[in-house]
Amino acid sequence: MGPQDQPVERNGMTPEDFRAAGHALVDWVADHLAGVRDRPVTPSLAPGELRATLPPAPPTDGEPFADLLADLELLRPGLVEWQHPGWFAYFPTGASYPSVLAEFASAALGQQGMLWATSPATTELEVHVLDWLVELLGLPATWRSDGPGGGVLQHSASDATLTALVAARHRAAPEDAGRAVAYASSQAHSSIEKGARIAGYGHVRTLPVDDVLALRPDALRAAIAEDRAAGLVPTCVVACVGTTGTTAVDPVRAIGEVARAEGVWCHVDAAYAGAAMLLPEVRHHQDGLELVDSYVWNPHKWLGTNFDCSVFHVADRGPLLDALSILPPYLRDEASSDPAAPDLRDWHVPLGRRTRALKLWWVLRSYGTEGLRRILRDHLAWAAWLTEQVEAHPRLELVAPTTFGLVSLAHVDGDDATTAITRALNDSHRVAVTGSVLHVAHLPGEGRAYLRISVGSMLTEFRDVEDLWRRVLDAAG
Ligand code: PLP
Repeated sequence: MGPQDQPVERNGMTPEDFRAAGHALVDWVADHLAGVRDRPVTPSLAPGELRATLPPAPPTDGEPFADLLADLELLRPGLVEWQHPGWFAYFPTGASYPSVLAEFASAALGQQGMLWATSPATTELEVHVLDWLVELLGLPATWRSDGPGGGVLQHSASDATLTALVAARHRAAPEDAGRAVAYASSQAHSSIEKGARIAGYGHVRTLPVDDVLALRPDALRAAIAEDRAAGLVPTCVVACVGTTGTTAVDPVRAIGEVARAEGVWCHVDAAYAGAAMLLPEVRHHQDGLELVDSYVWNPHKWLGTNFDCSVFHVADRGPLLDALSILPPYLRDEASSDPAAPDLRDWHVPLGRRTRALKLWWVLRSYGTEGLRRILRDHLAWAAWLTEQVEAHPRLELVAPTTFGLVSLAHVDGDDATTAITRALNDSHRVAVTGSVLHVAHLPGEGRAYLRISVGSMLTEFRDVEDLWRRVLDAAG
């Protein structure tokens, strides 16, 4: 036996070494997360600087885990601390302890739940937790797995919206996707246009919004009529509950009524705001869900669940399965036709699936529904407090109503003054906010620069919001 024939540890390390490595990793992670407040929110390094510190090639012989763990220190200068209490940029993305532990456990279980039969535990836990969510979010009861609907976890809201677009296209225009039309407001997320392109829609209509940046149902009705007259096939409309730019809310009921009357699929994108539907007092924003066909929201945004975890529900699983079920002989098994044993690979693009529900399950069980509600209510209250400060300030103003945890504001002196505030905040590296531009064709201020302050990091406290506001005041002059 030559040196190159040395036995290789088949699972990468011995069980004893794994135990020790796992403990060391948990210690590192615990210290890392505990110290996040004391680190800068955003890195200050030039492109390529971090990569230059990485080894140029993989090692020929395996290295001890201690050396691998040290790599995390190499990566640290390039981390953006999305879990920082001073994180007010984009939308939040949670990574609570229970969800991190569940991600680890899910990896260790090593399941491949494409069929019920290939991991009954993966499928049944997922179906169960998604049924829990129906009541928890005030969704129509018929969306439970024991009704005509059902839910599935997807990688991202973009994937879920693509899935809805594919199901809608299959239902409306299976032979001629080039004539299919998708509709969404000018404020809708880019994932809708991207999904429509991937799904082969020939047309995407961008519809105008009203004074609160919500899609106008009359414009939808008119566009559908125009498209039909031109020989096109109105296929899917996406209503947004909480747009990315300003968290505007499209009127779901009115849009659903138009969609029903026209035989058009109605999909709701609540990627960010869906988490807030745990709060009964917020649910009026999604009034009319009994008229829609599908719904997506992301626990990986505002519900303490680490990326990726996107919840997709359909009102009727029939059209979805018609569109996506393909049954080659090697995937056929006795359980396939049993409704208690769904093969969830038919509910989205990928075939393979891990035990992703475990993290949502552990988040819900660790915090409890009231624990999560308390956090969400804090975020809403702090965003409302910031809103009052802006309204009372002589040189700052809101550019859109504060509906959830996002405050959208600008300096009255114009774009340069607004951008200067954004820059001052972000250059401090103690807080992070997002500068954006509001494009609304019919409103004054088209192309106006503004500042998005998104309150929603799990570790943010009121003192962090006050600190942010002091910085805004300093920068606003
Ligand atoms: N829809 C809305 C309203 C969003 O705000 C976002 C992301 O911020 C998305 C969709 C895309 O989410 P994902 O990254 O899960 O695809």
